Amino acid sequence: MNAQEIIEIETKHTSGTYAKQPLVIVRGQGASLFDVDGVEYLDCSSGHGVANLGHAHPKIVEAIYKQASTLITLFETFPNDKRAELMKKITLLVDGLDKVFLCNSGTESVEAAFKFARISTGRKNIVAAMRAFHGRTYGSLSATFNKKYREGFEPLLPGFGHVPYNNIGALDKAVTDETAAVILEVVQGEGGVYPASAEYIQAARRICDERGTLLIVDEIQTGFGRTGKMFAIQHFGVTPDLLTCAKSLAGGVPMGAVLIGKNVKNLTPGVHSSTFGGNPLSCAAAVAALAVMEEEDLPGQAEAKGKYLMEKLNKIKSTNIREVRGLGLMIGIEMKQKAARYLKKLQEKKIIALNAGMTVIRLLPPLVITYGQIDRLVDVLAEVLTEEASE
Ligand SMILES: *Cc1c(COP(=O)(O)O)cnc(C)c1O
Repeated sequence: MNAQEIIEIETKHTSGTYAKQPLVIVRGQGASLFDVDGVEYLDCSSGHGVANLGHAHPKIVEAIYKQASTLITLFETFPNDKRAELMKKITLLVDGLDKVFLCNSGTESVEAAFKFARISTGRKNIVAAMRAFHGRTYGSLSATFNKKYREGFEPLLPGFGHVPYNNIGALDKAVTDETAAVILEVVQGEGGVYPASAEYIQAARRICDERGTLLIVDEIQTGFGRTGKMFAIQHFGVTPDLLTCAKSLAGGVPMGAVLIGKNVKNLTPGVHSSTFGGNPLSCAAAVAALAVMEEEDLPGQAEAKGKYLMEKLNKIKSTNIREVRGLGLMIGIEMKQKAARYLKKLQEKKIIALNAGMTVIRLLPPLVITYGQIDRLVDVLAEVLTEEASE
């Protein structure tokens, strides 16, 4: 099939819930993606932060192949060698988070965290942040702020409220002894790439402790090396009670997880489950992915490359740029005009990037992006971002 035929079929049969690009991608390698005609694109989206290890990493490929020919599926009531290996490995990542619930996506990990918070505390209320994005299913959507995600789907769940991000006073006021949990992203991703201050995250921990409220951090986008640490919360010396993750956990294979601390109570048989959760195929991929993250020091790479990229971006002199911000290889370039026109121009020059809200260009490249590729990215950005804003 050629590009036109593929696009026609998808256009005809798609649910319609995605704004489709006129670009058919069939293969990936490292930080590169290739279209049907073999044209190479630099991937600065990583599938919204999934491909931290790059595309087609040989260790992930091998682990998937091996496990697929051994055992793909097994409900979590039966222990399994690969699941045990993953549980052991993933609970070593954050001191104090010794238990884990395995699921299949980001939003499912957030749903699980909310259920755990309510069953643990016997309380109903959840405090989230303005600009927050936590997923598209009903619980996660209730914690998500932007009305563009919520409108048309009400009624959402009762008990949810939103406070301004990075505002300690507002959080202090909102959290009461009836609050089950506070949920925060450490860097707000979809909301526009806004990093939290250390003081804010530390205050959130203190406020939660004072009121017997659980602290949930959503590391679905910031996790697994993206910001220069394995998890972004580790920049601030804070341990949450529940940590949600997914995206690059299993090297691109669908998987989510909630890491669970000792303050979370009442997780007894039957309280929650998932048919696919903890399946050996995803577990094997995740074991391999975590090993690669360590062997290749992906957090260290993200830190060094993020610093390098940020310095170069700050040297681009353009009156179109309002601000450049981020942490590690999670970077937002806030423009004075809509991001869409810049993203289109970048794509014409074979660079795939993302937006975050209306005016922010978001860069989430695979952490294995080379310095040569970063230089190319900056050259193209320098050209595109300094062009006269005529539209
Ligand atoms: C992507 C994302 C989610 C939702 O993950 P899905 O796998 O798409 O359900 C939730 N929270 C954050 C911070 C995310 O970036």
